[in-house]
Amino acid sequence: MKDNKKDIRALTKEQLRDFFVKNGDKAFRGNQVYEWLWQKSAHTFEDMTNISKETRQMLEDNFVINHIKVDTMQRSNDGTVKNAVRLHDGLIVESVLIPTKTRTTACVSSQVGCSLDCKFCATARLKRMRNLNPDEIFDQVVAIDNESRLYHNRPLSNIVFMGMGEPLMNYNNVIKAIDKITSTDGLAMSPKRITVSTSGVPKMIRKMADDDVKFNLAVSLHSAIDEVRTKIMPFNETFPLKDLKEALEYWYLKTSRKISYEYVVWKGINDKQGDIDAFVKFCKYVPCKVNIIEYNPIDDGEFQQASNDALENYITALEKNRIVVNVRRSRGKDIDAACGQLANKS
Ligand code: SF4
Repeated sequence: MKDNKKDIRALTKEQLRDFFVKNGDKAFRGNQVYEWLWQKSAHTFEDMTNISKETRQMLEDNFVINHIKVDTMQRSNDGTVKNAVRLHDGLIVESVLIPTKTRTTACVSSQVGCSLDCKFCATARLKRMRNLNPDEIFDQVVAIDNESRLYHNRPLSNIVFMGMGEPLMNYNNVIKAIDKITSTDGLAMSPKRITVSTSGVPKMIRKMADDDVKFNLAVSLHSAIDEVRTKIMPFNETFPLKDLKEALEYWYLKTSRKISYEYVVWKGINDKQGDIDAFVKFCKYVPCKVNIIEYNPIDDGEFQQASNDALENYITALEKNRIVVNVRRSRGKDIDAACGQLANKS
């Protein structure tokens, strides 16, 4: 038995086929094992019932399957489910199932902790410990799909990368996970049902456009005034709004796909007319829609949801300028599963 066994899901299908050929078997065996790993989400080599006992033992001697384990699962009164997911090295991330009448959405994490330091976000208080591997992202989706079938009698319909971490700071692994999720060798989900949400890393937005990705892009904007945005999202100093705007224009030029802006309105921070005017102006640069998200206070109460009047002022101004706006009521507040609340408290 080898001491340092390799994570079998780090291998491509070709590498797996090669492995079998090198070990005197048929390349086709690689396809069978690949199917067990990515279509049937096998947790152990024992699960691979159409593979001979000897071959399973050979796999066991050479590889591991680092499957995630749902450590604790909490269900909210509104049907939201939050999973605290244990990784193979003991670290924990969280993912959330959000059901509505018409869809079930998985909100998945891409990093343990986060590289960035948004002041309103509970995850920011956990420093970034590491990036998630593609299979760890994939497994969160599979776990939520299973829960969706179990508790809501329907498969998962949508995925948002809005859990812990900045997905564009773990770009390669996020792209590999999405490839597996959308591939017919994997879960065969449409990329149109996947949204990657970023706090706005201009260089990576350009790269996504160059890579011709097929999923949707959302940007957590929260302010279109540099001074205000830098206060609440300090990395804005490094990636100012002008750079973000240019990257988004490039994205639209290359992909012709609208951008979603995620926007929270906080009392005394971005609830003035000047904030609204700046946001409306920003929305006109590139075709977009807006999601105004209800805020969920984290412990210290420094950030508070703005008044209904302030929200109405935003909505009226956006609609007057023919910008589509939705208001997202918060879900799963009672289990700390709402946006910005993921902090491994369970
Ligand atoms: S809001 Fe997103 S990018 Fe900002 S600190 Fe939280 S997890 Fe990271």
